[in-house]
Amino acid sequence: MIDFHTHSAASDGALSPRDLVDRAASEGVRRLAITDHDTIAGYLSVCQSVPSELELISGVELSCQWGRVGIHIIGLGFDPASRALTCHLEGLNKARRDRAEKIAHKLDRSGMPGALEGAMAVADGAQIGRPHFARWMVLAGHVDSEAIAFKRFLGRGKPGDISLLWPALDDTVAVITAAGGLAVLAHPLDYKMTATRLRALTDAFCDAGGAALEVINGRPRPGDTDALWRLVRERDLHVSVGSDFHRDSPHGAGLGVETGEIPEGMGVWEQL
Ligand code: AMP
Ligand code: MN
Ligand code: MN
Ligand code: MN
Repeated sequence: MIDFHTHSAASDGALSPRDLVDRAASEGVRRLAITDHDTIAGYLSVCQSVPSELELISGVELSCQWGRVGIHIIGLGFDPASRALTCHLEGLNKARRDRAEKIAHKLDRSGMPGALEGAMAVADGAQIGRPHFARWMVLAGHVDSEAIAFKRFLGRGKPGDISLLWPALDDTVAVITAAGGLAVLAHPLDYKMTATRLRALTDAFCDAGGAALEVINGRPRPGDTDALWRLVRERDLHVSVGSDFHRDSPHGAGLGVETGEIPEGMGVWEQL
């Protein structure tokens, strides 16, 4: 089993990087990437001491923009000391702090004061994101669940969904490549695009130097991935797979993806 898309408590995951690595090893994952949102702090905290049966690959899930659309690009197998990458991550860290202030301002205007302090306390040093606001909204009694927090306030098109602040997609792919890594277009079906738009996105990603599409993200239903396989073959791309694990949940996938069905030569892991 391989898992090239997981989150630790260094971003919006529940497990510490150490617990994540140990859990992956004990559940039979042989190659793992910790792909926290816009930070490699979790990866750096464990990369020197990984169980011998597990190969830990450097990873990150970078936020970017393609036009007005927010897109996630996964970087794999890069040099974590790359100057281009560290500068890029510093910029993202600042963008996330600025965005958090704007989100808090919007929530304040919706009758929820103290959101910035609240979400920062929930994040507890992690890279701050909307899930920390959602958790705080539940803890403060403003909503009954995190799902409702997203549905009413934080999700696409809602007041706390602040747009147009991430770096451009092509610059993001270029940074990963400059750091010696491979860029993967994360969960292409999550952007809810028409087939034509998704083709255009894939073309932009390829032109920028992207290496693979994340054909399996979480637990796709049968048939879901057909369109992605077609795109991969048309554009001569590689394939990546990941659980997108954040925490144990009845909806989400557990750690590890079986790769037995993926034709030889197509896995991005064969390029690392
Ligand atoms: P951010 O990176 O701060 O924009 O937050 C995006 C993260 O929020 C995603 O990576 C998911 O983990 C989480 N998320 C997005 N939509 C929802 C939702 N509807 N319910 C719960 N969590 C969500
Ligand atoms: Mn997340
Ligand atoms: Mn994502
Ligand atoms: Mn993710």
